[in-house]
Amino acid sequence: MYIKQLSLTNYRNYEQLSVQFDDKINVIIGENAQGKTNLMEAIYVLGFSKSHRTTKDKELIKWDENYAKIEGSVLKRKQQFPLEIQFNNKGKKAKLNHLEQKRLSDYIGALNIVMFAPEDLNLVKGSPQVRRRFIDMEIGQIQPIYIYHLGQYVKILKQRNHLLKQLQKRKSSDLTMLRVLTEQLIEHAAIILEKRFVFMKRLRSWAYEIHQGISRGIERLDLQYAPTVDVSEEDNQEKIVTVLTESFERTETKEVERGTTLLGPHRDDLVFYVNNKNVQTFGSQGQQRTTALSLKLAEIELIYEEIHDYPILLLDDVLSELDDYRQSHLLDTIEGKVQTFVSTTSVDGIHHQTLEKAEIFRIDNGK
Ligand code: ATP
Ligand code: MG
Repeated sequence: MYIKQLSLTNYRNYEQLSVQFDDKINVIIGENAQGKTNLMEAIYVLGFSKSHRTTKDKELIKWDENYAKIEGSVLKRKQQFPLEIQFNNKGKKAKLNHLEQKRLSDYIGALNIVMFAPEDLNLVKGSPQVRRRFIDMEIGQIQPIYIYHLGQYVKILKQRNHLLKQLQKRKSSDLTMLRVLTEQLIEHAAIILEKRFVFMKRLRSWAYEIHQGISRGIERLDLQYAPTVDVSEEDNQEKIVTVLTESFERTETKEVERGTTLLGPHRDDLVFYVNNKNVQTFGSQGQQRTTALSLKLAEIELIYEEIHDYPILLLDDVLSELDDYRQSHLLDTIEGKVQTFVSTTSVDGIHHQTLEKAEIFRIDNGK
């Protein structure tokens, strides 16, 4: 799939922009603070309806303006369709084929995107929250129903935590209500867990293969899901429900004592190993970066398996960070099949073969 055309109105430092993109490689060149990341972010927002670097939609609106708009024309499996997303002080509106989608889960997934940016190093180095966000976003874009279950889970979790606080402070003694909420929570938790396990299993085999390629056959990458309850990849949903139920029963007193939910997917983590050593603890900077890159490239293949079309790849400021071998390996892998956007401050860090094939855009102060 690819984006043919993109228009921005009052988006970050862009007052007005309208561009046609190449369906293969687009290189975006500009000095610092000219709008390279903003442009990548706009494409990302068009796909996910939210930014990769802020949760505050208002920040996307150009200063002193009251709305922002992103419009794009996408070609996916030989079909062309328009996407549009608008932000104002009341919220956001997302349109697919000119029709407003009230539920974002009906919008997300129309344009599939994989982004690799400097902050993705946090996928390996950062907190579990970063890794949960990664897995949630990725499953969400290929299975919109996942977003629904996650939304329900978060809603019930909030209610349950609120009640646990009340119980802790002895402002309530309603254990019956707590158990009703626990049961509802488990229903969605089990679906989330099962989908995460399936996703990890598939991501693992692609990531292994890709990582082998990038590391010239030297490094074996392994990914594991680390749950807070005693479940594993082999367990079906029924089994997961049973284990969750037992675990919550056992932890109830402790949860009341602490006033919060101690178990469940909102506390789980992912662990990455290179040659059986935890990359977060023992990996070099380069190994951590390569691990993150392998995960992202694995995602591209996984999305292809799922929807029979390749997503768009956004590489913000990362290509020049890779050594020559890794850079050309990366470009060989995606060559000709994935529409790619590469941003850089200077062409020096980019292979001349890449530049020859690419469409080049220069950005200067939002123009
Ligand atoms: P670098 O090479 O340093 O990464 P960049 O080209 O990626 O630079 P951007 O992150 O795209 O730079 O930011 C460009 C400019 O946009 C920055 O100067 C920033 O202050 C500005 N900017 C950010 N948000 C807004 C906004 N809401 N309205 C107007 N300008 C904004
Ligand atoms: Mg930038």
